[in-house]
Order: sequence, then C-alpha cells, then structure tokens
Amino acid sequence: KPDANGAVVKTSANAEKTEEEEKEDRAAQSLLNKLIRSNLVDNTNQVEVLQRDPNSPLYSVKSFEELRLKPQLLQGVYAMGFNRPSKIQENALPLMLAEPPQNLIAQSQSGTGKTAAFVLAMLSQVEPTNKYPQCLCLSPTYELALQTGKVIEQMGKFYPALKLAYAVRGNKCESSQRSVFRHCIWLLYFVSFDLARIYYVLCSSRDEKFQALCNLYGAITIAQAMIFCHTRKTASWLAAELSKEGHQVALLSGEMMVEQRAAVIERFREGKEKVLVTTNVCARGIDVEQVSVVINFDIPVDKDGNPDNETYLHRIGRTGRFGKRGLAVNMVDSKHSMNILNRIQEHFNKKIERLDTDDLDEIE
Ligand code: ADP
Repeated sequence: KPDANGAVVKTSANAEKTEEEEKEDRAAQSLLNKLIRSNLVDNTNQVEVLQRDPNSPLYSVKSFEELRLKPQLLQGVYAMGFNRPSKIQENALPLMLAEPPQNLIAQSQSGTGKTAAFVLAMLSQVEPTNKYPQCLCLSPTYELALQTGKVIEQMGKFYPALKLAYAVRGNKCESSQRSVFRHCIWLLYFVSFDLARIYYVLCSSRDEKFQALCNLYGAITIAQAMIFCHTRKTASWLAAELSKEGHQVALLSGEMMVEQRAAVIERFREGKEKVLVTTNVCARGIDVEQVSVVINFDIPVDKDGNPDNETYLHRIGRTGRFGKRGLAVNMVDSKHSMNILNRIQEHFNKKIERLDTDDLDEIE
C-alpha cells in the first residue's frame, strides 16, 4: 500500500514474491554474475595460460582466422585484445556462422566468452549497408542490455555504417525498429552443478543448530563457506550471532541494492571474508568458484512447504566445482525438516550421511 508520502510499503500480506519480482531477482543475479566476473579482462595473461590448458573451460585450439570471421570483425576482436577464441566461442561460432545459421542453446561458465560469442554471431549476420533492423538481442535487465550494447559497439567499430539502438526505458525507438522483429534469439544459459559428498546434522532447535555450526566453524573456515537460510530474518540473526562470537562474516541480503550485493560478493570472492551468510533467493545463481563448503542452515522448501529440490541442487552444486571436492551439511531441527531431507534424498537417489558435530575427528 502507498504510505503517506506515496511510497509503496510492503506488508506481510504481500511479502510473498510475485512472478514479476522473481523474474527481477533472476535478472539481478544475472547482472551480479557479470559484475563480479571481470577477471578475464583484468588479467589477459592468465586467459592465455588457461586457453592452453585442456582441462580449462577456456581451452581452445583454434584461431579466430580459422573461424572465418569477416575481416572487419577480426579487426574488432583483435582490437579488444582477444588472441584466440575461448572454448565456447570455438564450438558455438561455427554453428552460428553456418549457412543457414543453426539454432543453438549453449551452456558454459560465467566469464567464458558467451556474450562475445553471440555478439560476434550477430555482427556476422549484419550487412550494415542494408538500412533495416537485422538483429535483435533480448536482455533480462536494462543494465545488461547496455553492457551487451557496449560489447557490440566495441566489436563492431570497424563497421562504420553499423547502427545500434536500445529499446530500453527512456529511449525513443524509430517505428521501423519497433515493428521489425528478426528471429534471432540465442538462448545462452549458465547452469553448472556437481553433487558433493553430503551430510546432515541432527539438532532440536535453532540454538542447537547454531551450536553445531560453531563446532563446525573451524572446519568450514579452512575453506570458504556459504550458509543458506530460509528467511532474511534468520540470515541477519545468524550473521549477527556469528559476529558476536568474533567470527568474520559477510551477509548478503535481498534488500541490498545490486551494486551493494556485488560488493559483498566481490569481497567474499577475494577471500576478505571466509563465510557468507545468505538466503537462497538472494544467492541463487551466484557463482563463487572457491566455495567448497555449503551449509543449509534451513533445508530449502518452496512456498507450499515442499522440498525445493532445484534450490537444493543449486546450493549443493556450488561446492566441489571445477574438480575440487566439496562438503555440504544440512541442519535438521525437527521431524518435519528430517522428512523434507528424506524426500530430497529420495529425489536425487543420493544418500545423506549423519554427521556428529561433537565429534571433531569426524568433521576433519
Ligand atoms: P560470458 O558472457 O560467458 O559471461 P563474456 O563474453 O562477457 O563472458 O566474456 C568475459 C570476459 O572475457 C570479457 O571481459 C570479454 O571481453 C573477455 N573475453 C571474451 N572472449 C575472449 C577471448 N577469446 N579472449 C580474451 N578475452 C575474452
């Protein structure tokens, strides 16, 4: 409801997220991943090294010349400092540049060159002297649209006649731009998961869960850990309690602005904090490579109270990535949450072992 100043106030009755808000969340996450994944530009030497490592997602044997890019695009690519295509570019570009071009759904980690790949594919299809819209790129957010636009401008700078228009809020489109839609949407979606070795801890209350977590703390701070809670309230409570115990904890919460969230993740990624407490909605899809311990302080359930298998998989999926082994611990505090966990076990047909947090040898 609008308050006296006309601002919209959230009440508990409308606190549940609408589909629209969920979409915005996903869009914000997508942008967050972009904001925190700038290492390829910052360190091109490392890219070169990784591209020669057959186990790296950036590994590539081809050159841009072999991909038969148009000369103007080749110039654009080299002007951006790219020497060789990344793996996703090497695999996707021949399909997207084929005559006729193939529809493609591609999947690869954030920061591995998907944007550059589809921008190259779009630009390859454009004939700038034809004065009509030829490519349409859909983005989940305003900011991402501008970011992709920048890549298009950079890569296409040797096409002097190329025109780029943004159909975003505040921009007036020419009617020709508005009315012509080309069927050229490539869906590039990043999902990566890998089930880690998994435990549960049996407790009888929230306080006991906290105690169990404190017992685990030594073990979890050896690596970097993410702790997931069901609500923002529990997440802030837990972060405050851990801080009171003298632990250095980062809190990632849904009410923060995207930039603030990106800053928290960036600090965490740099290892400034070893533990990140967050809610599932907020951290969904966020990719922090070095996390090797995941704690489900609350077992993930959907809004009807059923096991949220997908969220569970996303959370557990962030441990043990890129060949590293991970640890995932579920905190059970009632018959109900044990039941939920059992259903998750059945769903994935994956046994979850009980862990005794009073027995530190076992934790090690
Ligand atoms: P994604 O869309 O998969 O997240 P991007 O296309 O945004 O990845 O690429 C991530 C970063 O790597 C960008 O800064 C981009 O300029 C750079 N990059 C992309 N392809 C290459 C390449 N072949 N060589 C070097 N850097 C690259």
